[in-house]
Amino acid sequence: MRTVGWAKKKGKKQENRLYLTRVAPLPLDKWLPVFEIPMLAGTKLWNSCVWESREARKNGTKYPTESEMKEKFKGYESWKRLHSQSSQSVVEEYFEAVRSYVKHKDNGRDEMRPPGFKPKATLRTITWKRQGFECREGLLTLKLSRKLDDIGVSLPEGFDTLELPDGTVLKGTPVEVKVKAVYRKGKVVGLEMHVTWDFGVVPMVLAGKVSAYDLNAALVARGSTEGSQQLLVCRELLSLIQYRNKVIAEFQQKMSRCKERSRRWKALLSAKRKALKKLERRINQLTNALTKLMAGLDQAEDITFSVLGDLTDIRRKSRSGDKDKKASQKINQLPYAQIEQQHAYKSLLRQVYPDKASERYSSQTCSHCGTRNKSYRVHRGLWCCKKCRATMHADLNGVNGIMKNYLFGHCGIEQPFPLKPPEVYRWNKRLNRFVKVSPRASA
Ligand SMILES: [Zn+2]
Repeated sequence: MRTVGWAKKKGKKQENRLYLTRVAPLPLDKWLPVFEIPMLAGTKLWNSCVWESREARKNGTKYPTESEMKEKFKGYESWKRLHSQSSQSVVEEYFEAVRSYVKHKDNGRDEMRPPGFKPKATLRTITWKRQGFECREGLLTLKLSRKLDDIGVSLPEGFDTLELPDGTVLKGTPVEVKVKAVYRKGKVVGLEMHVTWDFGVVPMVLAGKVSAYDLNAALVARGSTEGSQQLLVCRELLSLIQYRNKVIAEFQQKMSRCKERSRRWKALLSAKRKALKKLERRINQLTNALTKLMAGLDQAEDITFSVLGDLTDIRRKSRSGDKDKKASQKINQLPYAQIEQQHAYKSLLRQVYPDKASERYSSQTCSHCGTRNKSYRVHRGLWCCKKCRATMHADLNGVNGIMKNYLFGHCGIEQPFPLKPPEVYRWNKRLNRFVKVSPRASA
């Protein structure tokens, strides 16, 4: 059973609602005959969307809107093969794909293709929304159009429940079901059922220990109210991201030198796509390993609040044209949004409350005595307070400052609890995970 999770955020305030998508394989010989016809109908509807858009472009007429397309397809044979919400989903997914294509194109990602025709034999993923299915006593009933028979699938044991570390068992409400075909080298090798469960707001005791994280370029610093201090060395992640930016820039330059849509241009495009896909998979692997380590450290200390230093202030600054070099470097180098999202759901799964705290002034204030003076940061890695004589790693000074801000606000209070000696974790290529190393290795 494979699981993908996320935490839903509503506006600025985190709601701590936990969603998990669970995946179960459906044996091909039994289920392909059942799902093949609706899946092919889905592909037909998709191709109708593409066709309508291309016609509009060819004839110079107005592009049809989402609701116009839905209205028009209602009479189609393929529309009537699926539950109306599933048919509508195909159109919605098409428009979503167009929007994302436009967005990427605007960002200079010219390797993106506009959504196009799919081969007729493609098995399209079918989505069932709330009204399209029922779930009772471990049996999932997927509806097609009114005239066709429902499809009944029994769920694996424990598919709808989640046990929390304190023993609480949450029962999920299904919100969406998808049936997907798994392709390998152009051949269908399996079918999968993805069920997304809403496990509600995770119950937690909202009092307890706090940990804080400061995400810097190549280092993530961690501190906690237990006094522990960790440096998580992310040099590999950083260099992958820098390498990815370099690859994008190089391809862009090469492609700008040849004619658009020429043979060479197309060859470059496909090479670029391939290179980026591989890199993005590695980046994803590393951020997952990092957030797993973070969650593990929190769990080991029985943390209740896990706080990320909030980069929003700094980001806004760089967007508004203030070319603070350090700030923009910081933003360009860490997949902050990805880490934040993974940190949130991995924390919730362990009943840890994910939160954010301001980073303001934390890098220029002494966490020991509360004196604010930029120049005490001797260089990137070293903080030497001239007032209280504290000498420490600048990032650990920063993260202890973030934690103090979170607990007490900006009040210049002295270090409230004794600190333990710093620990260092680095990525081990051979073991494919972070391991603890001697502190000297961080230098
Ligand atoms: Zn000081």
